Amino acid sequence: STAIVWFRQDLRLSDNPALLAACKAGHVLPVYILDDVNTNARTRGEASQWWLHHSLVSLQQSLDGRLNFYRGDPLTILNQLIKETSASSVYWNRCYEPWTTSRDSEIKQALKSSGISVSSFNASLLWEPWSVLKKDETPYKVFTPYYRKGCLQRTPPREPLPLPETMNIVEKLTSSANLTDLNLLPTIPWDKEMQTCWIIGEAAAKQRLGEFLSHGLVDYKEGRNYPGNDPDNANVSRLSPHLHFGEISPNTVWYSSAAAGSAQGCEEDLDCFMSELGWREFSYYQLYHSPELPWKNSKAKFDRFPWKTMADTQLKQWQQGMTGFPIVDAGMRELWQTGYMHNRVRMVVGSFLVKNLLIDWRLGAEWFLDCLVDADPASNSAGWQWVAGCGADASPYFRIFNPVLQGQKFDSKGAYIRRYIPELAELPNKYIHCPWEAPQMTLDMAGVTLGTDYPAPMVDLKASRTRALDALKSIKSE
Ligand code: FAD
Repeated sequence: STAIVWFRQDLRLSDNPALLAACKAGHVLPVYILDDVNTNARTRGEASQWWLHHSLVSLQQSLDGRLNFYRGDPLTILNQLIKETSASSVYWNRCYEPWTTSRDSEIKQALKSSGISVSSFNASLLWEPWSVLKKDETPYKVFTPYYRKGCLQRTPPREPLPLPETMNIVEKLTSSANLTDLNLLPTIPWDKEMQTCWIIGEAAAKQRLGEFLSHGLVDYKEGRNYPGNDPDNANVSRLSPHLHFGEISPNTVWYSSAAAGSAQGCEEDLDCFMSELGWREFSYYQLYHSPELPWKNSKAKFDRFPWKTMADTQLKQWQQGMTGFPIVDAGMRELWQTGYMHNRVRMVVGSFLVKNLLIDWRLGAEWFLDCLVDADPASNSAGWQWVAGCGADASPYFRIFNPVLQGQKFDSKGAYIRRYIPELAELPNKYIHCPWEAPQMTLDMAGVTLGTDYPAPMVDLKASRTRALDALKSIKSE
């Protein structure tokens, strides 16, 4: 009989438990449904849609062109497909965002009550969020005990599953839309530069992992802080969008890196890399246990924080990479041009927005969700709450990154700045992170006129730091 496989955030064939089980059950009808009915507006930005399109192109090829596309309410569409093909079972891998978990349990109930067998699996997390609890049965709030005690001391993550031995895929249905009908690609072609930065899909994800494990894992612990390293040969994996869309499973990344780490004898780097996968788990964990994470401060006192309103101009300057602080601007331009931003710089630009500009972290998170190819409601919300100091386990608000010192420490030769801010490329290293301190002659020789070619700093670092600390003091009492 026909078994429907509903692909969602698991756009791959290997280590795909739903697909594997369906292949054992009968003829497989692979389906992708763009749900524009139940999802809320926060779910997918433009860069993310762009990635999704290409990821579906790749999955479509892996399935011999037989992937069926639909747009609309999944339950209605699944019911139509069941009627059309006499399918008796539906398989999917779980999604963990609150709006999908509630939708999925309703769908499961409805299908089951009409006699359809429904099976769901875990294909995107190493540990199910509900299975890791403290002794008193409440969720962990702090990362280290969550990860070290709650996760690592439990049963190890499941090992990756093999590819299905045989796949009897049903001919593509005539009712299927074309992928292009899903309108995921931008109408204004802003994606030219992005196309040169990424190879999308399951095979590319595996290759990326392989390259990272052979060139980037050794020295990861230290090297992951330096955004100026050549992107093809850096100590960061750039796997985040592949993981977000499920082109590769965290289990595959976990076990492959464990093998590579012990073969290369870099246990500390491996431990650090795995703990970053742990942060990904912790983000999903927080979102699962606190569904309001994307908009509600985890520390309630921040509800009284005096965020600046009417700060549209400043927000725009930040978004456009025109703050006058090179490391912040390079980060924001990297984001705009490539859909990615190095983690160290995400923290720096985030701190600048919420502390030096006093702009609400939710506005920063919204911009990130729209621009990042790895935009993820769990990791993005957790990342912003961490930066803003309002997260359950966050960097304290009073720890304010100084963008000049951060630049000098982690991009001492200015390679990152020169890559994204070509107008500053000729400045000597000494001034690349603080062009306003350069003598006029140096600026002239570098061909830079501040305020014309590149903005003068939009705030005074010292004064804005003091203002941020005062704002913090104002919410401390009570
Ligand atoms: P690597 O260093 O190679 O790490 C390997 C994997 O571990 C990553 O692919 C990612 O899945 C996971 N990971 C690493 N660091 C973190 C972290 N701090 N939190 C959660 N998972 C992590 N990550 C997203 O995937 N989507 C987001 O929308 C997102 N928004 C963020 C917003 C802010 C303000 C901050 C500070 C961080 C955000 N992160 C987000 C986390 C992190 O910056 C990225 O996961 C990381 O930079 C991706 O690059 P990489 O794959 O080269 O990482």
